[in-house]
Amino acid sequence: MEFQIPEKVQYIIDTLMSHGYEAYAVGGCVRDMILGKNPEDWDITTSAKPDEVKKIFRRTVDTGIAHGTVTVLINRDHFEVTTFRLDGVYEDNRHPKEVLFTRDIKEDLKRRDFTINAMAYNHRDGIIDLFGGMEDLKNGLIRCVGNAGERFDEDALRILRAVRFSAQLDFQIEEKTRKAIRAKAALLKNISAERIRMELTKLLISDHPDRLRMLYELGISRVILPQFDRMMETEHNNIHHIYTVGEHTIKTVCYVAGSAAENRFSPRERCILRWTMLLHDVDKPSTLTVGKDGQNHFYGHPEKGAATAKRILKDLKFDNNTLEAVVHLIKWHNYKFLLTPQGIRRAAAKIGKEYMELLFEVMRADSCGKNPAYIDDKLKELEEARRLYDEMISKNECVSLKDLKISGRDLIEAGFKPGRDMGIILNRLLEAVIENPALNNKETLLAMANSFMNDSNTLSN
Ligand code: ATP
Ligand code: MG
Repeated sequence: MEFQIPEKVQYIIDTLMSHGYEAYAVGGCVRDMILGKNPEDWDITTSAKPDEVKKIFRRTVDTGIAHGTVTVLINRDHFEVTTFRLDGVYEDNRHPKEVLFTRDIKEDLKRRDFTINAMAYNHRDGIIDLFGGMEDLKNGLIRCVGNAGERFDEDALRILRAVRFSAQLDFQIEEKTRKAIRAKAALLKNISAERIRMELTKLLISDHPDRLRMLYELGISRVILPQFDRMMETEHNNIHHIYTVGEHTIKTVCYVAGSAAENRFSPRERCILRWTMLLHDVDKPSTLTVGKDGQNHFYGHPEKGAATAKRILKDLKFDNNTLEAVVHLIKWHNYKFLLTPQGIRRAAAKIGKEYMELLFEVMRADSCGKNPAYIDDKLKELEEARRLYDEMISKNECVSLKDLKISGRDLIEAGFKPGRDMGIILNRLLEAVIENPALNNKETLLAMANSFMNDSNTLSN
């Protein structure tokens, strides 16, 4: 079978081969190419040692010489060229103690995680498939190369990679691999937070994030996100819900931001939205009370959940921007809009305009994961809030100090002293403008500021 590979990749392979070395495209790109997908990056594997690769190509970067990887630059593109290698003994379920180079592609393919990731290709030899990768691709199966238990002992991250690939490709995990995951899940405690975060994010932003359920079923979340297990085991027992907290959570993760192809949100927003849904009800289990009506209630779960989410995301070493956004959206996810222009302005002032789009999407997804009997009502309410909000935006109404037609500087020019009182005055003006947008002009606001100043009550409370 002949496949089309990018010209520059072909050039690197041809050049290596013309110097007498073996060279192939390998791993994820071969998998994606066979699936008819556009690979994101092309990895090349070769029998040439790193210093040999460096002699052949003019522009190279020592990316990971110790692991045999040299980056070859061609115009603006760069390609990782890695020497065939076998991994020595693994320490701490993650790092091979030593990396040994080999001239044999078989050895290199053997060290790779799954059969579908362990194929190589060049025009001369076609697809090199030693472990039934083609067959597994056809049948939609994730299967370890070799003995699954041993492969997870070597590197426990592979456990999470298995679930992540199953979510990205909509594949099942083959039985023995599945059993080994269940047996070895505890080893994930040795894996760094960053790596766990990266795999979980890939799983979440995939088109099949319902595979989250597998994290629970296979004993993975117990180790890396125990809060999720508690959610899976908490009944809602409330008329707005028909699923457990965990199943509701999974549904909302699937709904939020739609499929990747729809492109309704940027990749960053998609990540924020999916993490928000995963954690939006994280503290329902801990806030559960049973009311006189026999129904479960979860008072304060958004605020408490925001604090818990902050801890979880910090532990996972999230960047601050993502962390802040997720925590903020969780805190407000249950906000009850008052469906009047003032009500919406108040909401936007509290929540922040920069978050409103995302919050509407969070609320839409949350509603869609509740009792189907009430979904339409909830969505109608949300649409009305949205309509009022769009109206507010089109009228350019003021909901923050920076939209106020008077600034601290204006007040100073008018003879006010900078300081705490001025801050209070500005906030009072903002409150007044939120109630009545017609007040947002400089003369009116200045007159109001003067009267506040003269009315000591305004400032003293
Ligand atoms: P994607 O880049 O789409 O996430 P990929 O398959 O290219 O998927 P990478 O993490 O880029 O995944 O790794 C490239 C290749 O290296 C894999 O296809 C696999 O052959 C091998 N590989 C990566 N991580 C491991 C691992 N932890 N254990 C064994 N082999 C691995
Ligand atoms: Mg890759």
